[in-house]
Amino acid sequence: MTVLPVQTNAREELVDITAKVADIVRTSGVEQGICLVFSAHTTAGITINEHADPAVADDFLAALAAVTPKGIAWTHAEGNSPAHLKASLVGSSATIPIAEGNLALGTWQGIFLCEFDGPRVRRVHVQVVTRDA
Ligand code: ZN
Repeated sequence: MTVLPVQTNAREELVDITAKVADIVRTSGVEQGICLVFSAHTTAGITINEHADPAVADDFLAALAAVTPKGIAWTHAEGNSPAHLKASLVGSSATIPIAEGNLALGTWQGIFLCEFDGPRVRRVHVQVVTRDA
């Protein structure tokens, strides 16, 4: 397993980590298999979505803000319950097939670390699993 450190630069941000994950897959030499990408955090998640237009990430964050309204009487003393909820809504991992040595992503798909309580350094675990004979 490889641990990929990701520096985030804002309180909320989607960081495109596709190229770094693709490098890990290529370096592994695995031709057929799966790649697990996992966020080891409770206020950051992983998602796959469009990475061609950065406006998609902006809309994504705006919509998540709308489902965690300020009117809720959050009780968690750390004060970051919306970030915890957003991390669970997004999920902590993604699994991508590997075909012919590369991530089998769709044309417009990218892998994002979703930061909801930054900025800080996040740890993304990347596990490449082979089914090569
Ligand atoms: Zn907390």
